[in-house]
Amino acid sequence: MFTAGQTDGHARLTAELGSKGANLAEMARIGLPVPPGFTITTSVCRDFLEAGEPALDPVKPEAHAAMSAVSKAMGSVFGDPDNPLLVAVRSGARASMPGMMDTILNLGLNDETVKGLAKRSGSERFAYDTYRRFIQMYASVVLGIDSGVFADLLDNYKNLKGLAFDNDLTGADWKAIVEDFKEAVAHNLDRPFPANVNDQLWGAIAAVFRSWQNPRAETYRQMHDIPAEWGTAVTVQAMVFGNLGETSATGVAFTRNPSTGTPELYGEFLLNAQGEDVVAGIRTPQQLTEAGRLSVADTLPSLETLMPRTFSELSSLLRSLERRYRDMQDIEFTIQNGKVYLLQTRAGKRTAEAAIRIAVDLAHENIHSRDDAVLAIDAASLGQLLHPTIDPNAGREVLTTGLPASPGAAFGEIVFEAAQAQSLKSQGRTAILVRVETSPEDIQGMLASAGILTARGGMTSHAAVVARGMGLPCISGAGALRIDSKAGEMRVGTRVLKAGDLITIDGSSGQVLNGRVTLKQPKLSPEFAELIGWADKTRRLKVRANADTPRDARQARELGAEGIGLCRTEHMFFDAERISTMREMICASDERGRRTALAKILPMQRADFTELFEIMGDLPVTIRLLDPPLHEFLPRLESELEGVATALNMPLAKLKTRVAELSEVNPMLGFRGCRVAVRYPEIAEMQARAIFEACVAIKKTGQRCPVPEIMVPFVAFRRELDLVAAVIRATAAKVEAETGKKFDYEIGTMIELPRAALRAEDIVSGDDGAAFISFGTNDLTQTALGLSRDDASPILNTYAGRGIFERDPFVSIDRIGVGELVRIGIQRGRAVKPGLKTGICGEHGGDPASVAFFEAAGLDYVSCSPFRIPIARLAAAQAVIRAKHGG
Ligand code: PEP
Ligand code: MG
Repeated sequence: MFTAGQTDGHARLTAELGSKGANLAEMARIGLPVPPGFTITTSVCRDFLEAGEPALDPVKPEAHAAMSAVSKAMGSVFGDPDNPLLVAVRSGARASMPGMMDTILNLGLNDETVKGLAKRSGSERFAYDTYRRFIQMYASVVLGIDSGVFADLLDNYKNLKGLAFDNDLTGADWKAIVEDFKEAVAHNLDRPFPANVNDQLWGAIAAVFRSWQNPRAETYRQMHDIPAEWGTAVTVQAMVFGNLGETSATGVAFTRNPSTGTPELYGEFLLNAQGEDVVAGIRTPQQLTEAGRLSVADTLPSLETLMPRTFSELSSLLRSLERRYRDMQDIEFTIQNGKVYLLQTRAGKRTAEAAIRIAVDLAHENIHSRDDAVLAIDAASLGQLLHPTIDPNAGREVLTTGLPASPGAAFGEIVFEAAQAQSLKSQGRTAILVRVETSPEDIQGMLASAGILTARGGMTSHAAVVARGMGLPCISGAGALRIDSKAGEMRVGTRVLKAGDLITIDGSSGQVLNGRVTLKQPKLSPEFAELIGWADKTRRLKVRANADTPRDARQARELGAEGIGLCRTEHMFFDAERISTMREMICASDERGRRTALAKILPMQRADFTELFEIMGDLPVTIRLLDPPLHEFLPRLESELEGVATALNMPLAKLKTRVAELSEVNPMLGFRGCRVAVRYPEIAEMQARAIFEACVAIKKTGQRCPVPEIMVPFVAFRRELDLVAAVIRATAAKVEAETGKKFDYEIGTMIELPRAALRAEDIVSGDDGAAFISFGTNDLTQTALGLSRDDASPILNTYAGRGIFERDPFVSIDRIGVGELVRIGIQRGRAVKPGLKTGICGEHGGDPASVAFFEAAGLDYVSCSPFRIPIARLAAAQAVIRAKHGG
C-alpha cells in the first residue's frame, strides 16, 4: 500500500516492488503528493509466468482490500456508477526499462461508470475521451488488437465530420467514437469489450506481467545485462488527470540537464494531456523553464510563465527528491486543476558527459562524497566521451535543424526502416535511421545505426531517451522533414533525399547536414579531468597502453597512460612497403636470405623505437618480440607472390612451395611467438639491436630513455626463454662494445599458455629468470578454453544463447577458470621472486569487470588500447572503493 494513511514499502525494496513501486512508496512515506495505490510484487510475476492465471488467486483478496483503501483515500469507489475511481496499471522492474513493458491507464470505465465520471468532472467530453482512450489502450495491450484499427476509426470519423484536430471533437462525438471502438472490439474478438471492472483489472495485471517476456523487453534485458528471473512488479494507482482543461497538464522533468549535466531544471509538458501523449511524441511538448524555451527557440510559453505558482511548487519538490536520492532524478508529474502530483521518480538516464558533470557537481554540493562520484560513473560509458564531433572547420550544408537529443556526430546512408539498418550493418555499411518517430520495436535497428533522426517527438521521446542510453547521436523533432518511408524518400523544403543518400547528423546542435562531413575527436571536459583525478588518487593499479605506433603512443599519453604495456612489433609492419620486406624475411629459404631482409628492417625498427622512446620519456615501455601467427603475413595474391619472388631472387614456383610449407592447419597454435625466435635467432637479434641502438640514439641527444622491458611471447618452458634471452644479452653486449654506451634493460615474458602459468616459478626463478611477467589473457583464454580466437564467434553466440557464458570470455575474463590461472601465475612467480612485477595486456585490460578482478588478484598494472585508458583508470579506482566498502 501507499496511501497518505498507510505506506508499507520504501526505496530499498526495489527487488520486491520494482523501482517504480519502491520509489512511489518512498515518496508517499515522506509526504510527497503521490496518488495512492498498491504494488503487487515481482514474486507474484514469477509465479504467474510459471503457473499462469491460478497464481493470481491467492493475491486477489489482499488486492481488493487495498483497492478499497485507495477508494477511501480518493473519496471515490472502483466500479461505482456515480463516483467511479479510475486506476492506472503500471509495470515496474527492479532496473528501469523505459517503455519496454506495458501500462494501462484509465481503467475502471464502462457504460455506467463513464456517466458518473462525466457528472463528477462536469465534462462529458472529457469522460468519453477518457473512455475511448481506455478502450484503445486496453484492447491493444490486453486483448491484442492492433491499435491502428482505432487510429483509423478516429481518422475516418474526423474526415467524415470535416474536423482536423482531436480538440475539435465534442462529447457527443467521443460518445459515438466509443461505440465505434466497442463494435470494433466485438468484431475482432467475437465477444464484447469487458464491462466488469474487476475483469478489466485482472486482465490488465496479467497482461503487464506477461509483457515482461515480450521481445523488446527481452532485447533490452540482453543489452543491459538484466536477469530474466527478476520479473516485473505491477503498480495499481489512482488516476489523476492532466487533461481536465487548461490548468491541467502532464510532463516529465529532470532535476539537471540530462544531455550536458548543467545544474538546471529541465523538462517538457503538454497542456491538457495524459502521460501517454508525452511518451508517444505525437504533440510537440512545451518547455518547463524559460531558459529551456529560449534554448530550443520554442514559441509556446513555458510552465514557468504559464503557471508560476505550480512551477515553483514543482521545482521545490524536485530539489527535495534530488537531495533524498542523492542523484539526478527523472520525474513524471501530472497537474490536475493546478495541483501537482508526482507519478514516478527514478535516477535519470543521462549521457556520459552529463553523468560526469553531475557526479562532480553533487560532490561539490556535498550531496555525495568523491568516492560516490567515482562510483556513480559507468566506467564503460566513458567510451562515449571519445565520440567524434563535427570538425568546426568543415563546410556545413544544413538541411534542417531538430532538437539536439543525444550528443555526438555521425554520418551514414539514409534508411527509413529499422530492419534496413540491420542489413546495412551486416554488410559493413553505416546507416542513419530516419523515422517519423521510433518505437520500442525499432530497438535492434537503432542499435545497428550510427545515428537516429526523427521528425516528431521531444527531448524525452522514445528516440531521444533510447539513443542517449546507447550513446548514439540523435536528433528528434526535426519538424520540417516530410518522410515517405514507403516511397523511400524524404523532403526538406524543395529537396528530396532518397534511401542510400549520405547525411551527417550533429546530435549536439540538432543540425542535419547534407553529405558526409569531416568529424573530429572530442576534447575532454574539466569535470572529466577532476573526476579522473579523484580516481587516480584512489587506484592502486597502474594503467598502461597497448600502443604499437607513435600515433597510438601520443594518444595514450594524452589519455593518461603510465607507460606502454605492450608494443606488438609485428603491427609495425602492416603498411604496404614494410609488409613486403617482412614477407621476404619470412619466406627466405635460408639464414642468409633472412639476414638480407632483416638488414632492411633494422633501420625501420630502430626509427620506430627511437620515436616511441622520445614520446614516452622515462615511462616504462614493454616491447614484445615478433609474435606473428605467420599466416597474417604470407603473400597470397599472385602480384604479392611475384613481388616477393623478385625481391628474394627466387623462382615463383619455389616460392609457392615455400609458402605452402609455411602454411599451417592451426596457425594460432603453430609457428609463432618465441618459437620463431628459437628457430631463427637472427630475428630476435635484429629486434634487440634495434631496441638498444634506439636507446643509444636517445642517450646521445641527452634525453632520458625508458628502461626497455623486452618481452618474449608465447613461452611455455623456461628453456625457451633462456635461449631467446641469451641472444638478447649477447646483442646488448655487442651494441655496448660498438658504441661505448651503457644502457639498462629488462627481459621478461608473457604468460599466455596454461603451462606457463602453472610453471611460473621455473620461468622467473634466479637472476636470469623473467624480470617481469605480463598475462596475455587473449591467448590464455584461447588456450585454457581450447577455443580458437579466430573461430570463436559463432560458437560464442550459441553459448551465450544457451547460458553457458554469462559474458563473452574474450571480453570479460572468466574469473574462476582463466582467472585462476592468473592467480596461480602471480602466486607461484612471487613465491620465488617476491615483488615480481606483473601485468596484463590482453583485451580484458580495458573491461571494467576484469579490471576489478585484476585489482583483487594483486597485479601491478593493466594495459589496454589507448581509448580505453580512462575506462581502466576509473574502473581501477572503483574496484578499490568497492573493496573498501566490502565488495
Ligand atoms: C594476448 O594474447 O593476450 C596478447 C596480448 O597478445 P596477442 O593478442 O597479440 O596475441
Ligand atoms: Mg598473445
